[in-house]
Amino acid sequence: MQTGKIGVTTENIFPIIKKFLYSDHEIFLRELISNAVDATQKLKTLANIGDFKGELGDVTIQVKADKKKGTLTISDRGIGMDEEEIDKYINQIALSSAEDFLEKYKNQANAIIGHFGLGFYSSFMVSEKVEIVTRSYKEGSKAIRWSCDGTPEYTIEDAERADRGTDIILYLDKESKEFLEDSKINQLLSRYCHFLPVEIAFGKKKEWKDGKEVETDKFNIINDPNPLWTRKPVDLKEEDYTKFYHDLYPISEDPLFNIHLNVDYPFNLTGILYFPKIKNNIEIQRNKIQLYCNQVFVTDSVEGIVPEFLTLLHGVIDSPDIPLNVSRSYLQSDSNVKKISSHITKKVADRLADIFKNEREKFEEKWDDLKLFIEYGMLSEEKFYEKAEKFTLLKNTEGKYFTLKEYETLIKENQTDKNKNLIYLYSTNTVEQHSFIEAAKARGYDVLEMEGQLDTHFINHMETKLKDSRFIRVDGDTVDKLIEKGETKESKLNPDQQNNLTPVFRSQLPEKTNYIVMFEALNESDQPIVITQTEFLRRMKDMSAMGGGGMNFYGELPDSYNLVVNTNHPLVLRINEDLEKKLGEDIKKVTDKLEPLTKNKADLEKANRDKKEEEIKQEEKDRLEELNKKITELEGKKEEQLKKFGSKNKLVKQLIDLALLANGMLKGEDLTKFVKRSIELI
Ligand code: ADP
Repeated sequence: MQTGKIGVTTENIFPIIKKFLYSDHEIFLRELISNAVDATQKLKTLANIGDFKGELGDVTIQVKADKKKGTLTISDRGIGMDEEEIDKYINQIALSSAEDFLEKYKNQANAIIGHFGLGFYSSFMVSEKVEIVTRSYKEGSKAIRWSCDGTPEYTIEDAERADRGTDIILYLDKESKEFLEDSKINQLLSRYCHFLPVEIAFGKKKEWKDGKEVETDKFNIINDPNPLWTRKPVDLKEEDYTKFYHDLYPISEDPLFNIHLNVDYPFNLTGILYFPKIKNNIEIQRNKIQLYCNQVFVTDSVEGIVPEFLTLLHGVIDSPDIPLNVSRSYLQSDSNVKKISSHITKKVADRLADIFKNEREKFEEKWDDLKLFIEYGMLSEEKFYEKAEKFTLLKNTEGKYFTLKEYETLIKENQTDKNKNLIYLYSTNTVEQHSFIEAAKARGYDVLEMEGQLDTHFINHMETKLKDSRFIRVDGDTVDKLIEKGETKESKLNPDQQNNLTPVFRSQLPEKTNYIVMFEALNESDQPIVITQTEFLRRMKDMSAMGGGGMNFYGELPDSYNLVVNTNHPLVLRINEDLEKKLGEDIKKVTDKLEPLTKNKADLEKANRDKKEEEIKQEEKDRLEELNKKITELEGKKEEQLKKFGSKNKLVKQLIDLALLANGMLKGEDLTKFVKRSIELI
């Protein structure tokens, strides 16, 4: 027997491994099995080029747990090692300034392990002792046993091993006994080793026989050594992709489309990405892409490695060119990673463009599920936008789909306003905004459906992209003003009549919310009253609700609406007639009194307009004050009368309620009262 000291420059490498690598300690199994896979593949390569002339035989890698002995063994029939190789690869770990590095990355086992090729040594995270029993494939080699108990001292002695290959035997420490449990081992194997390229066996296959589950003598193979992404697209059918998707994500719905990535220049990359159905929640979908390095699972949190919007996709990416074992921040700045990331973006856009071009019907069919993803991409990646603007679709309230170009052509003639702006009308809720949509359609306008999670952002973005274009929500104004064409309509009510009607309508407005009563000459056939909310204010409030930075100011403003009275509607005219019949005399009296007073006041103000405060005579000042007082008094009286009239007028209330109802704003007690009143009126 021979003893020696492992060539670490730092004496305390083992305590460091144990202590600091704790959080990721389960990766030891991946590291050891990867080594076994490498050793097996090297032997296969040697056989291929004729340097190994023996029988390859069965090269299944075996994982065995022995609860009695407390050992976990990984055995392969790969190239094995001779004494010289053990010394070179296992004993001499080149660790320069290891302590500094370990201190810096103490929470990132992956970083350390990859950086120093500590793969094998990760076994000490879970073991009090590790043995290697190995025999080289080279002719005449003897088996040797290397053994180390977690100090830098090791022993090497002769051993028995019938055949070439390596056993790594872990004597698990007290804290790591869980790694002897079948369920735990299965869990790790399926997470890290699912697609390794050499068959891996854990235990024996079980079978049902006479109502009992019995072990057969066949290996229980836990991996798929030829996963779909390593195969040629021409050999694969749609069903194969769908099946593979469900192998990866057993509980997910069928995906919409897939992309088979296969790049060998300027870097190596294979993989399959799937577009999942994303209806309305971005968050749940993330972190489903699995990253592999030569079929070894590395991570399934790929943020920073692929563009953010791509994290909505599912599937696998495999590349030996991503320096997968180093830390995330390093990865993000790596130029290979950047290239790969932009390449994937391009591929994804190209694939979508392809489907759009060749299978537009299918594309439209799936659009509603795809839209969120595409909008997200267009919002966040300029490169993607450039490609997507050709295939992104707009859906109108009739369920028809248009490209940006097509839509522009559709609305150009009818929806260009007097300033030559193209107005895109949209609805965020086709049920609640139904009456507005109908009114717009009656004018020959088209209305887009924009009910999605990102639509508010998308609209803002599109306004910066599309030239001379604006988006206006269909209830943003009365139908005549949505798209201002510069035509003015005759009003059947003059300004005085409108002034008188203002308090009449104000008397019946709901409390709490802020309304501004205004008059507009609409068509006779339009609604008598329309409630609108200014596009600008509403959008600011929407943004602030979504957490837009600096928007809180708008979020705190009370809701404010316009109550627009149609001065050409017969019912409004009827209210006016009624008012004039009942109050005409009284109001005339007040107005007659007011007239000389306001004239007097105006004359006085005119005479004094150019004078300074001290130049105005005191008696004139007193006179003005007196006039003002009288005017206010009379106006107040008039308003009182008008309000009294309004508050008793059922038609006024009814029209306001109908407008509220059309906006989905009539609720609870008010709605009950409305129903009662309606029946009375019938
Ligand atoms: P890495 O795999 O990153 O090189 P490791 O510490 O895991 O680092 O392994 C060091 C070396 O030991 C390997 O490169 C390989 O030459 C050798 N080795 C480890 N495990 C085996 C094995 N099962 N069979 C043959 N050689 C092995």
